[in-house]
Amino acid sequence: MKRILLLRGAELIVFALLATIPLLVVNPYALGLLTLLAIYGILLIGLDVTVGYLGQVNLAHVAFLGLGAYTAGLVVTKLGLGMAPALLAAMAVGLLLGGLLALPALRLEGPQFALATLSFSALSTTALNELEGLTGGAQGLSLSRPPVFGYALTPPLFYWLCMALLAVVWMLMRNLLASQWGRAFEALRDSPIATDAMGVGTYRHKVAAFALGSGLGGLAGGLYAFNFQYLQPQSFTYDLMIILLLGVVLGGRKSLWGAFVGASVIVLLPNLLSNRLLFQVFSGLGFAMALAAGWRGLMKKTTRPFQALAPVAAMGLLVVGGLLVENTEDWRKAIFALMLFSVVVGLPEGIMGFLALFLAKLFRVPHAPLPEPSDLDAVLPVRAADGSPLLVLEDLKRYFGGVKAVDGLSMTIRSGAIHGLIGPNGSGKSTVVNVISGLYTPSSGRTLLRGVALPSGSLFQVAQAGVARTFQNLQLFGELTTLENVMVALKGVYRSSLPLVLLGLARTEERRARADALALLELIGLKAQALTKAKDLTYGAQRFLEIARALARKPDLLILDEPAAGLAHPDVLQQIEIIKRIHQRGITIVLIEHHMDVVSELCDTVTVLDGGKIIAEGTPEEIKRHPRVVEAYLGHPPQTETSGGAEPLPA
Ligand code: ADP
Ligand code: MG
Repeated sequence: MKRILLLRGAELIVFALLATIPLLVVNPYALGLLTLLAIYGILLIGLDVTVGYLGQVNLAHVAFLGLGAYTAGLVVTKLGLGMAPALLAAMAVGLLLGGLLALPALRLEGPQFALATLSFSALSTTALNELEGLTGGAQGLSLSRPPVFGYALTPPLFYWLCMALLAVVWMLMRNLLASQWGRAFEALRDSPIATDAMGVGTYRHKVAAFALGSGLGGLAGGLYAFNFQYLQPQSFTYDLMIILLLGVVLGGRKSLWGAFVGASVIVLLPNLLSNRLLFQVFSGLGFAMALAAGWRGLMKKTTRPFQALAPVAAMGLLVVGGLLVENTEDWRKAIFALMLFSVVVGLPEGIMGFLALFLAKLFRVPHAPLPEPSDLDAVLPVRAADGSPLLVLEDLKRYFGGVKAVDGLSMTIRSGAIHGLIGPNGSGKSTVVNVISGLYTPSSGRTLLRGVALPSGSLFQVAQAGVARTFQNLQLFGELTTLENVMVALKGVYRSSLPLVLLGLARTEERRARADALALLELIGLKAQALTKAKDLTYGAQRFLEIARALARKPDLLILDEPAAGLAHPDVLQQIEIIKRIHQRGITIVLIEHHMDVVSELCDTVTVLDGGKIIAEGTPEEIKRHPRVVEAYLGHPPQTETSGGAEPLPA
């Protein structure tokens, strides 16, 4: 309750204050700046979806601002329609073109994605310039603010409209980003492979996020058009794009407040540069913040001395420069560069990320309380296992160039079994898992789940079919908490449609998801760490968490790729305990393991691979005595018959 009051209270107070400003301030210039703040607030919230949540360098946002602005302008001037249809059209153009651009571009990663979006920006500026008949080209496009319900929108009225829209966008986005959608966005940033493997669908969420962010860019563009009432293509070029990125990074990514603070800074920037006193106050503040952040980092040993000093030096340069330089405006690019450098190095979480540390302490914002865990029998019902064939591999092959990683594998995994898959390093175990789970397409052969062919080459579809897996090299969602890692993967809980989620009417299923996820964390012994970020867990706990996350899929078949790899002895024992508990619930498990003692303790049947082929199959006891197995592991045939005792085979 207190948490809600504090968090929502802050929002209410700020918006209430902003709403009263036109009653107190009559200075039209100040009001113009605040109107721009609201517009840029919407714009940056949209940009934050791709830059913050998806973690992609998106250089197309400025183009959506421009396209939205021109759309609104044309709807009003050419079609003679009013403001509401113009704004809707601006947003729709953003959504649509954003979605279209995302379809090919989001298959790209990192620099390629940045370049694809950059070329989109270039293209859209050119189009706006060249379509002179429509846009007026370099001449620009003049429009006037159409009246709303017969009322002319005076500056204060228009300001209120922009602020009201910012408040609405803020509320809807807050609901969306706190839902499964927001978690999916973050999950796919941290590990696209695991997002697909957990049945969440990387691609569709990426496209949705990009379209949504671009739609907000378009809406902001519409407001921009009515704010300035004059548009020129060259207003929407790289210069502005860099400033928008500065705003998101400076304010703080993945935060509505961050977008708001970032918007305030970039709206004020031109004034800061033209007013000496303002600039000195601002750079002084920046210097103090760099000093505080650096000092804190050094005390907590989270930053190296260089990391702490560099931003202090950069901001110091701004302070000194502000005293020496005659005209700060001439230096604007250098000043932006210094600011961007200081923020990226010194405040990677941005101003809000930094302030939040203190604000949370100052106001003692408590964590949202955890609910009682759900009944495990409801979350993960015990199923009957009848020993019938569950997964059948038919002559499965996967070649990498000349490497026959899997070379004609036929095997049957029976329902209710813990089926071990062992073999020396490089014998093809992980490749088998990757083919079954859809990460790789097989070169030939089939996999059947309960007699039905599994889709090949799609992690997402295989996950949907009821197969869950873990990864030999951990693929957790590092920035999400332990609880959220499990919540992302939860199957069958999220049913509300997007409009309900946006309106914040999906709280019941959200509560249920938390309780269900908590029950799974309890099962594997991580309930106490529910609110720790996955990247901050111990290595052992991370391995356990991957299993809990896979269980959230309520799978028929669970494939564990070396779940004990790299674990200390006590953790290995706990891991065995966890696997036994899962098995008791009737879930069929394929266990890839290196340690023979773990295999002996857990498995009913063991298949041994070497060079991509099966060299032996049987119970653990039979396997340990099998001459070809001993040879594959030791590199020479067994000397005596006694080698199959309690001695674990070497890894
Ligand atoms: P294991 O898990 O049993 O240690 P892997 O399945 O990881 O073995 O590897 C089997 C063989 O396939 C190795 O020779 C490995 O180098 C090769 N291999 C695996 N994945 C790839 C890949 N993506 N590209 C090329 N070769 C691969
Ligand atoms: Mg492997």
